[in-house]
Amino acid sequence: MNLILLGPPGAGKGTQAVRLVQDFPIASISTGDMLRAAVSEGTPLGLKAKSFMDAGGLVPDDVIIGVALERLRADDVRDGFLLDGFPRTVGQADALEQDMEETGRKMTAVLLIEVEDEEIVRRVSGRRVSKSGRTYHVEFDAPKHEGRCDIDGSPLIQREDDKPEVVRERLSVYHEQTMPLIEYYDERGLLRRFDGSRSPTEVHDHIRATVATLRLEDAL
Ligand code: AMP
Repeated sequence: MNLILLGPPGAGKGTQAVRLVQDFPIASISTGDMLRAAVSEGTPLGLKAKSFMDAGGLVPDDVIIGVALERLRADDVRDGFLLDGFPRTVGQADALEQDMEETGRKMTAVLLIEVEDEEIVRRVSGRRVSKSGRTYHVEFDAPKHEGRCDIDGSPLIQREDDKPEVVRERLSVYHEQTMPLIEYYDERGLLRRFDGSRSPTEVHDHIRATVATLRLEDAL
C-alpha cells in the first residue's frame, strides 16, 4: 500500500502518520523530519536546506526529489509507504509518478486533510517540540509540566518555522505550490478528503476506515 498525506502545515499529518503506521505495516516517511535531522547534523543537505526552511519556503525540487526517491528505495519500504510532506509541488509529483512507474509501484490513495487557514495559524503557533521529536500544543495538548517533555523532561521549544509570521508564509506557499496537487490527484482518481477540523481521533478513525476499504478492494 502506497499512500500520501496531503494538507497544509499543521493539519495533523504527522499525528495521523504516527497512528496509521500502527494500523498498517508501511514505512512512514516525513521529508520535513529528514531535513530537520540533516540540519541538526550539519550535513551538506542540511546546510543547503536550512535557509529555505527557516524562511518558510520550500527546499528546491532538485535537492528534495533525489533525497525522497532514494529513501523510497530502502528495505523498510518494501511493503509500502506513507509519505508526509512529499510531494509538495507538481514537479515533485511528476518525479514520484515516473519513479513509481519505473519501479513497478502503484499509488493506492492520496489522503487530503483539510483545515481553514485561521485554524492553522492558531494551531501551529501553539505547537512546541521536544528534543526527541514529540509534539505538544500549549492549549490543546499541554505537557504535564509546563515547558518540559513528558517523556524525557527536555525543554520544549518552538520550531523557528512555527512562529506566526513564518506560518503565514508557509500557508501562502501551500496555496500557491502545493494546492495544485489536489486537482492533480483528483484527476487520477486517487484523492480522498478528510475534515481536519475534527479531533485527531475522529480524523484517524475516518482515515483508517477508508484505507482498510482500499486495502480490501486492492486484494480482490
Ligand atoms: P514539514 O515538517 O513537512 O512542514 O517541513 C518543514 C520544512 O521542510 C518545510 O517548510 C520546507 O521548508 C521543508 N520541506 C519538507 N518537505 C519538503 C518538500 N517535499 N519540498 C520542499 N521542501 C520541503
